[in-house]
Amino acid sequence: MRIDVVTIFPDYLAALDLSLVGKARRAGLVDLRVHDLRDWTLDRHRTVDDTPFGGGAGMVMRPDVWGRALDDLLPEPSGPDDTVGPGPAAVAAGAHLVVPTPSGEVFTQRRAEELATEDRMVLACGRYEGIDARVVERYRAAGHRVSELSIGDYVLNGGEVAALVMVEAVARLLPGVVGNPQSLVEESHGAAGLLEYPVYTKPPRWGDAEVPEVLLSGHHARIDRWRRDRALERTAARRPDMIAALDPETLDAHDLEVLAGLGWRATRDPRHPADSRYAARWEHVAE
Ligand code: SAM
Repeated sequence: MRIDVVTIFPDYLAALDLSLVGKARRAGLVDLRVHDLRDWTLDRHRTVDDTPFGGGAGMVMRPDVWGRALDDLLPEPSGPDDTVGPGPAAVAAGAHLVVPTPSGEVFTQRRAEELATEDRMVLACGRYEGIDARVVERYRAAGHRVSELSIGDYVLNGGEVAALVMVEAVARLLPGVVGNPQSLVEESHGAAGLLEYPVYTKPPRWGDAEVPEVLLSGHHARIDRWRRDRALERTAARRPDMIAALDPETLDAHDLEVLAGLGWRATRDPRHPADSRYAARWEHVAE
Protein backbone atom coordinates (compact mmCIF):
# COMPACT_ATOMS: atom_id res chain seq x y z
CA MET A 1 0.00 0.00 0.00
CA ARG A 2 1.20 3.52 -0.74
CA ILE A 3 0.25 6.24 1.75
CA ASP A 4 0.93 9.95 1.11
CA VAL A 5 0.54 12.38 4.01
CA VAL A 6 0.41 16.12 3.24
CA THR A 7 1.06 18.49 6.14
CA ILE A 8 2.70 21.79 7.01
CA PHE A 9 4.59 19.92 9.79
CA PRO A 10 6.29 16.93 8.11
CA ASP A 11 8.45 16.35 11.23
CA TYR A 12 5.29 15.51 13.17
CA LEU A 13 5.08 12.26 11.21
CA ALA A 14 8.60 11.13 12.22
CA ALA A 15 7.00 8.72 14.69
CA LEU A 16 6.04 6.57 11.72
CA ASP A 17 9.71 5.53 11.49
CA LEU A 18 9.39 3.75 14.84
CA SER A 19 8.06 0.40 15.98
CA LEU A 20 6.03 -1.91 13.71
CA VAL A 21 5.08 0.74 11.15
CA GLY A 22 8.73 1.83 10.84
CA LYS A 23 9.73 -1.80 10.39
CA ALA A 24 7.00 -2.29 7.78
CA ARG A 25 8.28 0.77 5.89
CA ARG A 26 11.82 -0.54 5.90
CA ALA A 27 10.61 -3.98 4.77
CA GLY A 28 8.72 -2.36 1.88
CA LEU A 29 5.31 -3.52 3.16
CA VAL A 30 4.05 0.04 3.19
CA ASP A 31 5.32 2.88 1.02
CA LEU A 32 4.78 5.91 3.23
CA ARG A 33 5.62 9.37 1.86
CA VAL A 34 5.30 12.59 3.86
CA HIS A 35 5.03 15.89 1.94
CA ASP A 36 5.28 19.53 2.98
CA LEU A 37 2.18 21.37 1.71
CA ARG A 38 4.29 24.53 1.42
CA ASP A 39 6.13 22.93 -1.51
CA TRP A 40 2.98 23.69 -3.54
CA THR A 41 2.86 27.41 -2.64
CA LEU A 42 3.88 29.98 -5.25
CA ASP A 43 4.63 33.05 -3.15
CA ARG A 44 7.77 34.13 -1.37
CA HIS A 45 6.21 33.59 2.09
CA ARG A 46 4.95 30.08 1.23
CA THR A 47 1.44 31.03 2.38
CA VAL A 48 -1.09 28.25 2.91
CA ASP A 49 -3.92 30.13 4.69
CA ASP A 50 -6.07 33.24 4.51
CA THR A 51 -8.90 34.97 6.39
CA PRO A 52 -12.36 33.34 6.33
CA PHE A 53 -15.04 34.71 4.02
CA GLY A 54 -18.00 35.82 6.12
CA GLY A 55 -15.71 36.87 8.95
CA GLY A 56 -14.97 35.11 12.20
CA ALA A 57 -11.94 33.98 14.12
CA GLY A 58 -8.93 32.15 12.74
CA MET A 59 -7.59 31.36 9.30
CA VAL A 60 -8.65 28.87 6.62
CA MET A 61 -6.36 26.78 4.41
CA ARG A 62 -6.41 27.93 0.79
CA PRO A 63 -7.99 25.66 -1.82
CA ASP A 64 -5.57 26.59 -4.60
CA VAL A 65 -2.54 25.35 -2.63
CA TRP A 66 -4.30 22.12 -1.62
CA GLY A 67 -5.54 21.71 -5.20
CA ARG A 68 -2.01 21.82 -6.63
CA ALA A 69 -0.81 19.28 -4.04
CA LEU A 70 -3.71 16.88 -4.51
CA ASP A 71 -3.66 17.16 -8.32
CA ASP A 72 -0.04 15.98 -8.12
CA LEU A 73 -0.61 13.19 -5.61
CA LEU A 74 -4.02 11.72 -6.48
CA PRO A 75 -4.04 9.35 -9.43
CA GLU A 76 -6.98 9.75 -11.82
CA PRO A 77 -10.11 7.93 -10.64
CA SER A 78 -10.98 5.29 -13.20
CA GLY A 79 -14.78 5.35 -12.89
CA PRO A 80 -17.57 4.29 -10.54
CA ASP A 81 -16.56 0.61 -10.51
CA ASP A 82 -12.83 0.89 -10.33
CA THR A 83 -11.82 -2.34 -8.64
CA VAL A 84 -9.09 -4.12 -10.55
CA GLY A 85 -7.78 -7.67 -10.59
CA PRO A 86 -9.58 -10.98 -10.18
CA GLY A 87 -11.52 -12.22 -7.16
CA PRO A 88 -12.02 -10.91 -3.64
CA ALA A 89 -8.41 -9.76 -3.34
CA ALA A 90 -9.07 -7.12 -6.01
CA VAL A 91 -7.91 -3.66 -4.99
CA ALA A 92 -9.52 -0.36 -5.91
CA ALA A 93 -7.68 1.67 -8.52
CA GLY A 94 -6.99 5.34 -7.87
CA ALA A 95 -6.55 6.50 -4.27
CA HIS A 96 -8.74 7.18 -1.28
CA LEU A 97 -8.47 10.79 -0.13
CA VAL A 98 -8.85 10.97 3.67
CA VAL A 99 -9.38 14.36 5.28
CA PRO A 100 -9.16 14.26 9.09
CA THR A 101 -11.67 16.66 10.65
CA PRO A 102 -13.62 16.78 13.93
CA SER A 103 -16.77 17.26 11.84
CA GLY A 104 -16.23 13.96 9.99
CA GLU A 105 -17.69 10.51 10.44
CA VAL A 106 -16.03 8.69 13.33
CA PHE A 107 -13.00 6.62 12.33
CA THR A 108 -13.59 3.05 13.52
CA GLN A 109 -11.96 -0.36 13.13
CA ARG A 110 -14.43 -1.03 10.25
CA ARG A 111 -13.17 2.09 8.45
CA ALA A 112 -9.56 1.01 9.10
CA GLU A 113 -10.37 -2.40 7.57
CA GLU A 114 -11.94 -0.76 4.51
CA LEU A 115 -8.99 1.58 4.02
CA ALA A 116 -6.56 -1.34 4.37
CA THR A 117 -8.04 -2.80 1.15
CA GLU A 118 -7.02 0.33 -0.78
CA ASP A 119 -3.97 0.39 -2.98
CA ARG A 120 -3.31 4.05 -2.21
CA MET A 121 -4.43 6.52 0.42
CA VAL A 122 -3.70 10.26 0.59
CA LEU A 123 -4.15 12.02 3.94
CA ALA A 124 -4.67 15.80 3.90
CA CYS A 125 -3.82 17.28 7.33
CA GLY A 126 -5.66 20.50 8.08
CA ARG A 127 -4.55 23.26 10.48
CA TYR A 128 -6.14 26.52 11.69
CA GLU A 129 -9.94 26.42 11.11
CA GLY A 130 -9.54 23.67 8.53
CA ILE A 131 -9.38 23.40 4.74
CA ASP A 132 -11.60 25.45 2.36
CA ALA A 133 -14.72 23.30 1.85
CA ARG A 134 -14.39 23.41 -1.95
CA VAL A 135 -11.40 21.06 -1.83
CA VAL A 136 -13.39 18.03 -0.64
CA GLU A 137 -16.32 18.95 -2.93
CA ARG A 138 -14.06 19.20 -5.96
CA TYR A 139 -12.35 15.82 -5.57
CA ARG A 140 -15.60 14.07 -4.66
CA ALA A 141 -17.30 15.57 -7.75
CA ALA A 142 -14.36 14.41 -9.88
CA GLY A 143 -15.11 10.81 -8.82
CA HIS A 144 -12.43 10.27 -6.18
CA ARG A 145 -13.22 8.27 -3.07
CA VAL A 146 -13.14 10.92 -0.33
CA SER A 147 -13.73 10.40 3.41
CA GLU A 148 -13.82 13.11 6.05
CA LEU A 149 -13.00 11.28 9.27
CA SER A 150 -12.84 12.25 12.93
CA ILE A 151 -10.79 10.33 15.50
CA GLY A 152 -13.17 11.36 18.29
CA ASP A 153 -15.37 14.03 19.77
CA TYR A 154 -12.69 16.54 20.70
CA VAL A 155 -10.74 19.15 18.76
CA LEU A 156 -7.00 18.96 18.06
CA ASN A 157 -4.83 21.73 16.64
CA GLY A 158 -4.13 19.87 13.41
CA GLY A 159 -4.70 16.72 11.42
CA GLU A 160 -1.23 15.23 12.04
CA VAL A 161 -2.13 13.32 15.21
CA ALA A 162 -5.25 12.01 13.48
CA ALA A 163 -3.11 10.96 10.50
CA LEU A 164 -0.74 9.08 12.84
CA VAL A 165 -3.73 7.28 14.36
CA MET A 166 -5.20 6.35 10.99
CA VAL A 167 -1.91 5.27 9.38
CA GLU A 168 -1.09 3.02 12.35
CA ALA A 169 -4.58 1.51 12.52
CA VAL A 170 -4.58 0.79 8.77
CA ALA A 171 -0.93 -0.28 8.38
CA ARG A 172 -1.12 -2.92 11.14
CA LEU A 173 -3.86 -4.67 9.14
CA LEU A 174 -1.65 -5.05 6.06
CA PRO A 175 -0.28 -8.56 5.52
CA GLY A 176 3.06 -9.12 7.27
CA VAL A 177 3.04 -5.96 9.43
CA VAL A 178 1.96 -7.65 12.69
CA GLY A 179 4.11 -10.75 13.28
CA ASN A 180 1.30 -13.08 14.42
CA PRO A 181 -1.88 -12.35 12.40
CA GLN A 182 -3.90 -14.32 15.00
CA SER A 183 -3.34 -11.42 17.41
CA LEU A 184 -5.56 -9.27 15.14
CA VAL A 185 -8.47 -11.73 15.35
CA GLU A 186 -9.57 -11.56 18.99
CA GLU A 187 -8.93 -7.89 19.57
CA SER A 188 -11.39 -5.30 20.83
CA HIS A 189 -13.65 -4.03 18.03
CA GLY A 190 -13.04 -7.17 15.97
CA ALA A 191 -15.63 -9.26 14.13
CA ALA A 192 -17.21 -10.37 17.44
CA GLY A 193 -18.22 -6.78 18.20
CA LEU A 194 -16.89 -6.98 21.77
CA LEU A 195 -14.07 -5.51 23.83
CA GLU A 196 -11.20 -7.86 24.55
CA TYR A 197 -11.09 -9.92 27.77
CA PRO A 198 -8.46 -9.00 30.43
CA VAL A 199 -4.98 -10.41 29.79
CA TYR A 200 -2.30 -11.64 32.24
CA THR A 201 1.34 -12.76 32.15
CA LYS A 202 4.05 -13.96 34.57
CA PRO A 203 4.45 -13.95 37.49
CA PRO A 204 1.30 -15.91 38.39
CA ARG A 205 1.26 -14.20 41.81
CA TRP A 206 2.12 -10.50 42.08
CA GLY A 207 1.76 -9.27 45.66
CA ASP A 208 -1.74 -10.32 46.67
CA ALA A 209 -2.99 -10.50 43.12
CA GLU A 210 -3.23 -13.89 41.44
CA VAL A 211 -3.87 -14.82 37.84
CA PRO A 212 -7.35 -16.43 37.49
CA GLU A 213 -6.86 -20.16 38.07
CA VAL A 214 -8.60 -21.20 34.84
CA LEU A 215 -5.85 -19.55 32.76
CA LEU A 216 -3.26 -21.86 34.36
CA SER A 217 -5.41 -24.97 33.80
CA GLY A 218 -4.36 -25.73 30.22
CA HIS A 219 -8.02 -26.54 29.51
CA HIS A 220 -8.57 -24.68 26.24
CA ALA A 221 -12.37 -24.94 26.07
CA ARG A 222 -12.73 -23.60 29.63
CA ILE A 223 -10.24 -20.80 28.93
CA ASP A 224 -12.13 -19.79 25.77
CA ARG A 225 -15.43 -19.73 27.63
CA TRP A 226 -13.95 -17.74 30.54
CA ARG A 227 -12.47 -15.20 28.13
CA ARG A 228 -15.74 -14.88 26.22
CA ASP A 229 -17.68 -14.30 29.47
CA ARG A 230 -15.23 -11.62 30.60
CA ALA A 231 -15.43 -9.94 27.17
CA LEU A 232 -19.24 -9.86 27.42
CA GLU A 233 -19.13 -8.47 30.98
CA ARG A 234 -16.50 -5.87 30.16
CA THR A 235 -18.37 -4.71 27.05
CA ALA A 236 -21.68 -4.49 28.90
CA ALA A 237 -20.05 -2.42 31.66
CA ARG A 238 -17.98 -0.08 29.50
CA ARG A 239 -19.68 0.04 26.10
CA PRO A 240 -23.40 -0.73 26.35
CA ASP A 241 -23.73 0.75 22.83
CA MET A 242 -21.71 -2.22 21.54
CA ILE A 243 -24.00 -4.74 23.27
CA ALA A 244 -27.02 -2.96 21.78
CA ALA A 245 -25.43 -3.33 18.34
CA LEU A 246 -24.91 -7.13 18.67
CA ASP A 247 -27.14 -9.39 16.63
CA PRO A 248 -28.59 -11.88 19.17
CA GLU A 249 -28.71 -14.49 16.38
CA THR A 250 -24.90 -14.61 16.41
CA LEU A 251 -24.71 -15.43 20.14
CA ASP A 252 -24.90 -18.86 21.74
CA ALA A 253 -27.20 -19.84 24.63
CA HIS A 254 -24.46 -19.28 27.21
CA ASP A 255 -23.73 -15.78 25.84
CA LEU A 256 -27.44 -14.93 26.11
CA GLU A 257 -27.50 -16.25 29.67
CA VAL A 258 -24.48 -14.14 30.67
CA LEU A 259 -26.05 -11.04 29.12
CA ALA A 260 -29.43 -11.75 30.73
CA GLY A 261 -27.60 -11.86 34.08
CA LEU A 262 -26.33 -8.36 33.28
CA GLY A 263 -29.82 -7.09 32.47
CA TRP A 264 -29.67 -7.51 28.67
CA ARG A 265 -32.54 -9.54 27.21
CA ALA A 266 -32.80 -10.23 23.49
CA THR A 267 -36.13 -9.15 22.09
CA ARG A 268 -37.91 -8.46 18.81
CA ASP A 269 -39.94 -5.39 18.08
CA PRO A 270 -43.42 -6.61 16.99
CA ARG A 271 -43.89 -3.40 14.98
CA HIS A 272 -41.19 -4.48 12.54
CA PRO A 273 -41.05 -8.28 12.76
CA ALA A 274 -39.79 -8.82 9.23
CA ASP A 275 -37.01 -6.28 9.05
CA SER A 276 -34.18 -6.82 11.50
CA ARG A 277 -32.73 -3.39 10.66
CA TYR A 278 -35.58 -1.82 12.58
CA ALA A 279 -36.18 -4.53 15.14
CA ALA A 280 -35.21 -3.53 18.64
CA ARG A 281 -32.73 -6.25 19.49
CA TRP A 282 -32.29 -5.74 23.19
CA GLU A 283 -34.21 -4.71 26.23
CA HIS A 284 -31.97 -3.45 29.01
CA VAL A 285 -33.13 -3.67 32.58
CA ALA A 286 -30.95 -1.59 34.87
CA GLU A 287 -29.80 -3.58 37.91
N1 SAM B 1 -12.82 24.60 13.01
C1 SAM B 1 -12.82 23.18 12.98
C2 SAM B 1 -14.13 22.65 13.56
O1 SAM B 1 -14.62 23.24 14.51
O2 SAM B 1 -14.64 21.62 13.08
C3 SAM B 1 -11.66 22.64 13.78
C4 SAM B 1 -10.36 22.81 13.11
S1 SAM B 1 -9.04 22.06 14.01
C5 SAM B 1 -8.55 23.36 15.10
C6 SAM B 1 -7.72 22.02 12.85
C7 SAM B 1 -7.51 20.70 12.17
O3 SAM B 1 -7.22 19.70 13.15
C8 SAM B 1 -8.67 20.14 11.39
O4 SAM B 1 -8.73 20.69 10.10
C9 SAM B 1 -8.32 18.66 11.34
O5 SAM B 1 -7.38 18.39 10.34
C10 SAM B 1 -7.65 18.44 12.68
N2 SAM B 1 -8.52 17.84 13.71
C11 SAM B 1 -8.90 18.43 14.86
N3 SAM B 1 -9.65 17.61 15.61
C12 SAM B 1 -9.76 16.46 14.93
C13 SAM B 1 -10.44 15.24 15.17
N4 SAM B 1 -11.15 15.03 16.27
N5 SAM B 1 -10.34 14.26 14.24
C14 SAM B 1 -9.63 14.44 13.12
N6 SAM B 1 -8.97 15.60 12.83
C15 SAM B 1 -9.03 16.60 13.71
